[in-house]
Amino acid sequence: MTDSALHLHTRSAASTADDAPSGSLLPGEWAGLSDAGRSRTHNEDAWRIDPGIGLIVLADGMGGYNAGEVASAIAVDSVARALADEIFGDDTHQPHDQLARAVHAANAAILAAAARRPECLGMGTTLAVAWICGSALRFSHVGDSRIYLLRAGRLYQLTRDHSVGQAMIDAGLSDPDQARQSSMRGVLTRALGVEPTVQPDYGEFELAGGDRLLLCSDGLTDMVADEQIVRILSRDAGSAELAQDLVDRALAQGGFDNVTALVLKVPGLPASRK
Ligand code: CA
Repeated sequence: MTDSALHLHTRSAASTADDAPSGSLLPGEWAGLSDAGRSRTHNEDAWRIDPGIGLIVLADGMGGYNAGEVASAIAVDSVARALADEIFGDDTHQPHDQLARAVHAANAAILAAAARRPECLGMGTTLAVAWICGSALRFSHVGDSRIYLLRAGRLYQLTRDHSVGQAMIDAGLSDPDQARQSSMRGVLTRALGVEPTVQPDYGEFELAGGDRLLLCSDGLTDMVADEQIVRILSRDAGSAELAQDLVDRALAQGGFDNVTALVLKVPGLPASRK
C-alpha cells in the first residue's frame, strides 16, 4: 500500500472462502478494490459486486468538475437496479436483451441527470458488466474498461476496447506497443452519456473450475502489462489478496489514474496448472 498523501480513496469489499452465501449466483469467492491513484484527488471509478443478482460491474467516469464520479455512480446504480428488475420481474427475455436494456437504462439515466444539472453536461463513463448465474457468464461493455479471464495459466481479454488506440491497431496503423505509447490511446470511440443510443458489445462464456475473472479500469491496464497480470492472478491466494496485489502494482508503477480491480475466483485446480 502506498503512503502517498493523495492516496485517500481506497474502497474495498470481499467475500471469504467460508462464507459462500446460499443466495449467491457467483460461483466462487470475489473481491473488489478501487484506489484514486497517486496523482488524482478524486476517484471517478465506480464499481459493485452483488452476489444476489450475480453482478460484477465497473464504470470509469469522465467529465469536468467531478461529474465523472456522478456518471460512473449512476451507471453502476442503474445497471444493478435494471438487472435486479430483470431477475425478479415477470419478464422472461434472453440475457442478451436483458443486459442490453440495462446498459441502455444506464445511458438514459446519465443523459437525464446531465440535462438536470448544468455542471454535469458532457459527463460520460465506460461500463463493463459481468452477469453470472452459476457457470454461465454473460458480459457487456462500452469503452475501455476490460474483462479478462485467466484459464490454465493463459490470459484471455474478453472485451475489445472502444478506443482510438484499439482502432489504430485494428486498422493496422500501429501495433499494441505503439498504441500503448500513443497519447490518443485512451480517447474513447464509445461511451455512456454521449448519445441517446449506445452500442454495447455482448458476449457469453462458460466458466470452469479454476477460472479467474478480472474486471478492471484502464488505470490498471495502462500501468500493468498483461504478463504481470498473469503472474499475479495465477498466484495461489484469495481474491482479496489478488485484487490488492493488482492495485498495488499499478500504484507502484505510476498510479497516474484511478485504478480498480474486481476479481472472481472459481474454485478448482489452480489456474496456473495446465
Ligand atoms: Ca480511467
